[in-house]
Amino acid sequence: MLRAVTVLAAFAALLAAQNRPTLDIYWIDVEGGAATLIIAPSGESLLVDTGFPGNGDRDPQRIAATAVAAGLTRIDNLVITHFHGDHIGGLPAVRRLYPHAVARKFPGEAPVSAIEPVAAGELIRHDGITLQAIHTPGHATDHLCFYWLEEQALFSGDLILGEGTAVIPRVGGSLMDYLASLKRLCSLDIRRIYPGHGPVIEDPPAKITEYIEHRHMRERQVLDALHAGARTIREMVARIYADVPRGLHPLAEETVWNHLVKLEGERRVRRIQEAGRETYELLG
Ligand SMILES: [Zn+2]
Repeated sequence: MLRAVTVLAAFAALLAAQNRPTLDIYWIDVEGGAATLIIAPSGESLLVDTGFPGNGDRDPQRIAATAVAAGLTRIDNLVITHFHGDHIGGLPAVRRLYPHAVARKFPGEAPVSAIEPVAAGELIRHDGITLQAIHTPGHATDHLCFYWLEEQALFSGDLILGEGTAVIPRVGGSLMDYLASLKRLCSLDIRRIYPGHGPVIEDPPAKITEYIEHRHMRERQVLDALHAGARTIREMVARIYADVPRGLHPLAEETVWNHLVKLEGERRVRRIQEAGRETYELLG
């Protein structure tokens, strides 16, 4: 019985492959994030991100199950948005399943073995699929978005999410770079965004504007808090996030810290370290 089911599944997969008139896109749920499999009419395939390691290779297995359902016997190309574990972690297991797949990413501080570097602006061409690598640091220094020219779609990794706002980590993150990356995207005609987490975004210009505006609003709030006499990050958070539960304040402190680093870099704010206490004051 199992054999019959397997043969039937293989036959259905073959039909699926033969009847593919256009590009197919498969959206694979991996650890709350998403990997995306694109298949050209010829059957050539490309996978964006590989999910998380662990859980008995659950994410790579979900990717493999999707490939089988799509009628594929192999995945040809792998592109990785950035080095965080929930995007690149599944790569070793995916490689074991598809040893001939070519993997590519932007060079990072920690080199990954047997991975081909992608340069900023480089075009990755496969049969009917052209992805342009857009270097978009801010969430991570090696972060790439991939702009799919034929579909005017963007794979945004963790730069833009389907829900909520992106994290700017203390290590490798930069709000200044992040905003510059968002502004870089404004020059592209993007019709749809496939984010690394959350649902597909159907109105990209509105989302990108919302993201930029959100950060500008926070910056104004930080400047207002400094004007009003707040000196420490904790004082600024208490003022800006007065209506947010205190349990979330440590997260808010990270956000305010990111803004202060940006403002310090722009010479609009000075940081003062005194007797183990860090305070900030406006310049000019
Ligand atoms: Zn990330």
